Amino acid sequence: MPKITPEGIFVDGRIVVRRYLNLEHGPISTVVAIVLHQTDSSTAQQTFNSYARSPHGAHFLIDKNGQVYQTASLFMRCQHVGRHIRSRCLEIDKPSCDSVAMARIQAMSWSNHVRALDAHERAKPYPQRYPINGDSIGIEIVGRSIDDKKYETVTSEQNNSLQWLTGELYSHFSISSKDVYKHPQVSYKNPGEAASGVPK
Ligand SMILES: [Zn+2]
Repeated sequence: MPKITPEGIFVDGRIVVRRYLNLEHGPISTVVAIVLHQTDSSTAQQTFNSYARSPHGAHFLIDKNGQVYQTASLFMRCQHVGRHIRSRCLEIDKPSCDSVAMARIQAMSWSNHVRALDAHERAKPYPQRYPINGDSIGIEIVGRSIDDKKYETVTSEQNNSLQWLTGELYSHFSISSKDVYKHPQVSYKNPGEAASGVPK
């Protein structure tokens, strides 16, 4: 089991702590999942520069060379998933959707559809819906977006660190690889984000 301080910081020689209090938005209720991201930056420093003045970010950052940084407390909520979640049932288990509600939502204009679907999904318990900021840990992997469909390939050093870190988080939060998602699955993003990241 990993050691965690009362402030929610991992105690491990493989982690460098660079905590940004502005990324933390109140206590996290429970952690049921992990969401993987890519930064659209080429260096960790570029992401630190944006973290210094932004409310948006995640709990961990993995640099190109595999160095893991903890950037927020495990006990606090970060804004990394985005405002509106997609529908898990629509994408992976259509018969389990409420077909009447879905038909009503799908008939709406796109922006109303996105908002109504988010509200409909948030009323469900996990894992019937995708994770949200209030119940997930975010891991950012340094890498640029190449175009509107693709991101840089995650380095083997980054994937080694990702596998170690996800393994530690699985045992701490009693979750598994079934609870790891890539950002574009969960909300509306470039479909290539974190595509080449391989969790444990
Ligand atoms: Zn993301």
